Amino acid sequence: MTHIIGLTGGIGSGKSLVAARFADLGITVVNADTVAREVVAKGEPALEAIREHFGDDILLPTGELDRRKLREIIFKNSAEKTWLENLLHPIIRVRTIEQLNAATSPYVILESPLLLETDQHLLVEKIIVVDVDEATQIARASARDGSDVEQIKRIVATQMPRAEKLKKTDYVIDNSGTKENTLAQVDKLHQDLLQL
Ligand code: ADP
Repeated sequence: MTHIIGLTGGIGSGKSLVAARFADLGITVVNADTVAREVVAKGEPALEAIREHFGDDILLPTGELDRRKLREIIFKNSAEKTWLENLLHPIIRVRTIEQLNAATSPYVILESPLLLETDQHLLVEKIIVVDVDEATQIARASARDGSDVEQIKRIVATQMPRAEKLKKTDYVIDNSGTKENTLAQVDKLHQDLLQL
């Protein structure tokens, strides 16, 4: 089995930038957020279970999940939130493991903003943290998403503090400089990871 490497960092830290470079280098990247969306795509059994539980109104006219409505429901009702987590968590886990196992590159990356906050870190052999200071993180994330600084700050508050992440990681990519500087660090780390 191929080596599984976790890639994490707070919102706006530069995970996508780093992940895209690994992909360019021929490394398979499994994105935890993408898997979480795939399992509730049209035609998936989990979407049918959600429809049975919440009713047809939880679907958009297109038959796709009305994510906004679902978010509102679980925000207001913790029992519904637990129900949903109990449904999706094992399905996402199995799908993630399947995709990691299907990779044929010398190692495979699991990219997740909540790698360290969830049991996802148990799936990986080594951890990479993409690191910037909080002010840079907030500025970049709000510029990217067009969302206000307060909203980004609320998300940052739900994530593990930077110092804690740095204590738990094997490798750090410092994304405080230019993108080129960061990409050069990825290329160097790639050479190290090929030696595993
Ligand atoms: P994440 O995936 O961790 O949320 P992104 O990779 O999307 O973060 O980066 C957040 C935003 O900051 C993006 O718009 C990206 O283009 C920009 N960005 C990332 N790294 C740098 C950098 N070193 N210099 C300037 N802008 C950057």
